[in-house]
Amino acid sequence: MPRMERDRDRDRDRDRDDRRKKYTKFRKDNRCRFCRDKTMYVDYKEIQTLYKLCTGQGKLYSRKRSGNCAFHQRSATLAIKRARYMALIPYVGTGSL
Ligand SMILES: [Zn+2]
Repeated sequence: MPRMERDRDRDRDRDRDDRRKKYTKFRKDNRCRFCRDKTMYVDYKEIQTLYKLCTGQGKLYSRKRSGNCAFHQRSATLAIKRARYMALIPYVGTGSL
């Protein structure tokens, strides 16, 4: 095998290994903030937490964006809706929070 080709193959294998390592590292840590804090249910009175799960416009972030697990995303959605009803957080914003 010529030298250049061998080096290229080696680099490619190393890149692949790096990628795999990154992926496992990413999967290892807990992405859901409520699971990390061992919170059972999201409280509608914790406005600071709820603001982090909303856009500037007041829309809810998706599970993919917020990183919550399915259980806590459902809990957070309910909490945000309750907080809106109690006028703790706005239904719509101006885009500057
Ligand atoms: Zn969770």
